[in-house]
Amino acid sequence: MKTLVYGLGESGLAAARALLEEDEVVFVADSNDSGQLRNTVSKLGVEGRLGTGPEVLGEDFDRIVASPGIRPRDAVLTAAERTGVPVLSEVALGLDLLGPDLRVAAITGTNGKTTAVDMLRAILAASEVPHAVAGNSWRALTGCLDEVREAGLLLLEVSSFQLHYMEDPGFNVAALLNTRPDHLNWHASFEEYAADKLRIFDGQGPGDLALVSTGDPVGRGATGRLAAETLVVGEGETGVLGGSLVLRGRRIADVGELPFVGPHNYENALFAAAAAERLGIGLDGIREGLLGYRLKPHRMQVVSEHGGVTYVDDSKATNPASVAAALASFEEPVVLILGGSEKETDFAELLPYIERCRAVICQGEAGPRIHEFLEEKGAGMDVFLFLEPDLATAVTRAYKVAHSGDVVLLSPGCASFDQFAGYALRGEAFAGLVAELARAGGRVGR
Ligand code: ADP
Repeated sequence: MKTLVYGLGESGLAAARALLEEDEVVFVADSNDSGQLRNTVSKLGVEGRLGTGPEVLGEDFDRIVASPGIRPRDAVLTAAERTGVPVLSEVALGLDLLGPDLRVAAITGTNGKTTAVDMLRAILAASEVPHAVAGNSWRALTGCLDEVREAGLLLLEVSSFQLHYMEDPGFNVAALLNTRPDHLNWHASFEEYAADKLRIFDGQGPGDLALVSTGDPVGRGATGRLAAETLVVGEGETGVLGGSLVLRGRRIADVGELPFVGPHNYENALFAAAAAERLGIGLDGIREGLLGYRLKPHRMQVVSEHGGVTYVDDSKATNPASVAAALASFEEPVVLILGGSEKETDFAELLPYIERCRAVICQGEAGPRIHEFLEEKGAGMDVFLFLEPDLATAVTRAYKVAHSGDVVLLSPGCASFDQFAGYALRGEAFAGLVAELARAGGRVGR
């Protein structure tokens, strides 16, 4: 079997190494060419072609492993499709190499994947059940195959990109949290994006478990077609009922006891709980795991409390649906900082929540478009709108307009690449700017 690994990022390299370990014939390629990439190829010690297009397919491959950054309309991938060469994602390759004797719980969704996987991880850890975690925002699956084999249980975060090139994975537990418009610069349409998300349920049988949310028309709408036992979170006896998290009619915890807030996080917790139960954890273990859980950084993280104002870093909110979820989590008036790099996303999803805001400050590359949209659609609403060039000036503005008792929320609804190398650096910059303003206090004239 001769495999082309196309795209030499972290997951492509892990895939190439894993194939080499299996004594497979590997050829690597990338559409870019640089000294660093040349170095990488020579270190791998395999044949490779850089700065390449569809001509690379002249080599005759049995399959192609595509990096998640490469769009399906890429010339090499479309040429492969035309000539019938199978394309698979790095995660699909990993699952293939691992074989069928492994239990896998996989989670996808537009928002909340990392959190739900992390909550499931915390529950299993609290009960000391061996497991390995990989996929999407975690490490590359092909980079930790031995560890996964040893654990015998894999928690997998999968993106729509990874599902696009995956055939009948047959997961023991598969969860679709939600499906909102995002990444439409990668997928051809929302319909294709939704179809890719639903592939998480392909290959499941009646002994498996499928989890969807009542709030997600895509998942909810698919229930009649799913082969696995299906649980709809938020329906019947699974949901937040009478102020408690309830799983199949049994109370896990009161929401007030949980160390995290927000209806979206309660839902993530219910998905994690349902998955954990299927993996053999009892209700007490689930409760213990969730009560000890702490959200990962940059997801609704309180970074400072100053002058009666709470500053919250939700830099990981890179689409409007996650901003809406953040706004739904606060009773207090919010001073919201929106904007970042431009994905041309529709911010209409925010409108039902916008009156929770004292002020909205738009900034960055997408700032002017969002500002204009809110000015037009929010006409008559009792919300101050500001336009600032960048995050630093936006934070200064927020510091000035916030009253004691307010929340200043960085939940940008956009990626960070207009000003930062990633969401984490943007979140750190926010916390740094807040600390600086707090130190300088009077000088900014609150
Ligand atoms: P992902 O891995 O899917 O990007 P994260 O768990 O990293 O998801 O969270 C990304 C953003 O989405 C954060 O701002 C978080 O507060 C928000 N979020 C988390 N879970 C949900 C959910 N179920 N629905 C909507 N937004 C969510």
